[in-house]
Amino acid sequence: MPKFVYDFTEGNKDLKDLLGGKGANLAEMTNLGLPVPPGFTITTEACRHYLKHGSLPEGLEEEVARHLSALEEAMGKRLGQSDDPLLVSVRSGAKFSMPGMMETVLNIGLNDESVHGLAAQAGDERFAWDSYRRLIQMFGKTVLDIEGELFEEALEDAKRAKGIDNDVDLDAGDFRALVDTYKGIVREHAGREFPTDPREQMDLAVKAVFDSWNADRAILYRRQERIPVDLGTAVNVCSMVFGNLGMDSGTGVAFTRDPASGQQGIYGDYLQNAQGEDVVAGIRNTVPLTELETIDKASYDQLLEIMEKLENHYRDMCDIEFTIERGKLWMLQTRVGKRTAAAAFRIACQLLDQGLITADEAVRRVTGDQLAQLMFPRFDASRADGATRLTKGMNASPGAAVGKAVFTSARAVELAERGEDVILVRRETNPDDLAGMVAARGVLTSRGGKTSHAAVVARGMGKTCVCGAEELDVDVKAGRFTAPGDVVVEEGEVISIDGSTGEVFLGEVPVQDSPVVRYFEGELGAADGDELVTAVDRIMGHADGQARLRVRANADNPEDAARARRFGARGIGLCRTEHMFLGDRRRLVEKLVLAETDDERRAALEALEPLQKQDFVGIFEAMDGLPVTIRLIDPPLHEFLPDLTELSVRVALAADDADPKDRKLLEAVHRLHEQNPMLGLRGVRLGLVIPGLFSMQVRAIAEAAAERRRAGGDPRPEIMIPLVGAVQELEAVREEAERVLADVAAETGVDVPALIGTMIELPRAALTAGQIAEAAEFFSFGTNDLTQTTWGFSRDDVEAAFFGRYLELGIFGVSPFETLDREGVGRLVRIAAEEGRRTRPDIKLGICGEHGGDPESVHFCHEVGLDYVSCSPFRVPVARLEAGRAVI
Ligand code: ADP
Ligand code: MG
Ligand code: MG
Repeated sequence: MPKFVYDFTEGNKDLKDLLGGKGANLAEMTNLGLPVPPGFTITTEACRHYLKHGSLPEGLEEEVARHLSALEEAMGKRLGQSDDPLLVSVRSGAKFSMPGMMETVLNIGLNDESVHGLAAQAGDERFAWDSYRRLIQMFGKTVLDIEGELFEEALEDAKRAKGIDNDVDLDAGDFRALVDTYKGIVREHAGREFPTDPREQMDLAVKAVFDSWNADRAILYRRQERIPVDLGTAVNVCSMVFGNLGMDSGTGVAFTRDPASGQQGIYGDYLQNAQGEDVVAGIRNTVPLTELETIDKASYDQLLEIMEKLENHYRDMCDIEFTIERGKLWMLQTRVGKRTAAAAFRIACQLLDQGLITADEAVRRVTGDQLAQLMFPRFDASRADGATRLTKGMNASPGAAVGKAVFTSARAVELAERGEDVILVRRETNPDDLAGMVAARGVLTSRGGKTSHAAVVARGMGKTCVCGAEELDVDVKAGRFTAPGDVVVEEGEVISIDGSTGEVFLGEVPVQDSPVVRYFEGELGAADGDELVTAVDRIMGHADGQARLRVRANADNPEDAARARRFGARGIGLCRTEHMFLGDRRRLVEKLVLAETDDERRAALEALEPLQKQDFVGIFEAMDGLPVTIRLIDPPLHEFLPDLTELSVRVALAADDADPKDRKLLEAVHRLHEQNPMLGLRGVRLGLVIPGLFSMQVRAIAEAAAERRRAGGDPRPEIMIPLVGAVQELEAVREEAERVLADVAAETGVDVPALIGTMIELPRAALTAGQIAEAAEFFSFGTNDLTQTTWGFSRDDVEAAFFGRYLELGIFGVSPFETLDREGVGRLVRIAAEEGRRTRPDIKLGICGEHGGDPESVHFCHEVGLDYVSCSPFRVPVARLEAGRAVI
């Protein structure tokens, strides 16, 4: 039979799975010789059994009885003994802390007899009756499921009757009367008497703690925090110590360092003459912990000594709960404390300097998500005078953005092209708003939650977004929105949105770059005295030194390429060429599509070619000496043509006078119209169907590379064919591309080698990767499309439509577009990587797409042995850090 109960002397901090965090750390402190009130822990395994079978596991009751006897022996009194009662607390404690989610009952063992014994022993009637009424209150609420309000109200009534505001002014008689009132509440609302048998009290409390694992709020919390559903909680039975025994007693909480800044010092709160839950409940004002020095110097000194000991022992910042009973200090809880992102970096370096942790550990102590938080721009609150706060929505995608309110995607693009900053305001966004979202500094919606289209897309783009600001009434047609207090904001008025808090302001709140971004930009150095920057510099240095996985960036223009390089990118993993077909060049694309003869088509391509070439020259220059993977055109051509409806209306309205060119265009748009463009004529298929299109692009790449080489540069082009599903497709394009490369080499006299490879973004490509590798010098996993095609999810449609529901149901814990789905999509990646390498051992393997900047997915890429990940320039530092963390 497994062991279900561990004395505090038997456990240790590494047994969190079994004893929960609280139990494991109580045991650890006990073993360190710190003053912990004796007790024992009932394991999570017992809880799991209870939750599964609805009954306690066999043998548990006897085991508890044995440990209780031992505790009674050690304390020299029995649980609830009438002349001198042992009292205990029954405390929940799961593996992961779930603050406020589960329950604790204090003062178990009190009843109508033992309350007198406690009074006599303590020499304090008032204390004993106060403790008794607390027991009934907590027990009633937690174990018997009675509305807590009922007890609160009765307490308020008692104070009101006496004309006082403070619990401290209630006397023994008042509490005694309150005990009777409370018992009445129990009788009425639980349909039973308050149990007076101490062991029954304890057993019921234990079961209640077990049950609290499945309380609604606990379930919700676990889902949000991605804590597994089946861990169960441990239960700690801990002998009571009393902070409410007079002014020489009290209770408090403390941190060994400032959890906000990481600064060393004395941080915490203390409350005299109180029991633990009073501090949290905010019944009376606490005093800063430093004042304990004057209240009780001996306890204060001892506490500081213990805090130092704990920090050295856990080798990390700890938080603690303690109680002082008549001048004697007791430790009631400790754990490695939660901290802000900035504090995490600072503390890691401080501990490294103190020699408490190694550089590897320092890197492990911080996360890519924390680094990302430190990189978001922020509002400078000290200069926000000119702005008015309008409302607060959901903090969907962090950052701070200021701009003119605009209500349509077209308007956003128009103003942005004129160099103006805009905020796109919509009721909700849909895929048609994409261009506007790209053009805008930020996105504000009045509907939809954190998985709405706006939120998901904005996060993917690293764009500031506040969504679901329900108090706003957005009228797109009229071009205005209304905020509470009938504030009307018209198009063109400046608003500020804070994606980290969800706040929306009318007017401009000044924005500042974070110091960490200025550091990555090279504007702020490690030696400039900013402690955070220095810490980030040290941690990044070590992570880079350890990382095996390289980090590249997705960048389509020289500016992004240059920034990515400053941020530490070792090349470009994805340079999309489609944006190079927009703007003025649309005209040329139209010509290409409408061409009726080979000559017309060739003329259109020849006009496009020099423009394309110029694009590449700049990018090669910015990434000189580093690989640049250029993807040939991928999206369906109709995306570059006018909108079908608009054009139809124009032609119809003009009737007989319609421009013949428009008519031809309309025909073409009809011809190219597809039901499922995502699965239609795009990628390599376009290259095979439109003669000369890919050749033109390859020529532009080769000529650009030759030009750079002649200018003394070191261009390293890699040509990537999208959406390949069969090796034959790739072979056909490859042959053509090689011919063009040879032609350009002959014409220019400069032979720049270019790798030719493909994206793996269709299941068939992954499954036939062994064949495809015959014709590919590299694979880049296009995990956005691969996720779409593997799940059969159209990304633009499904996220807003039902991902919220899927997350709620736990079908996945996080969108597969955010974090790579290891079991499904990941399996295909593994297969393709293995089989590709089998065919071509030196094949280069990388991943581009959103997942390249996602910490979890970076770890996956490391595990499968890819050579690099590629992500947006802004995510490069995050990916670098995670690439280092994946190794250690
Ligand atoms: P939580 O995890 O919500 O903090 P705890 O189990 O730590 O719940 O207990 C709630 C409060 O009761 C805390 O302030 C704690 O310090 C106090 N407490 C718990 N056990 C005891 C005890 N044996 N003696 C005195 N105070 C206790
Ligand atoms: Mg606690
Ligand atoms: Mg793709």
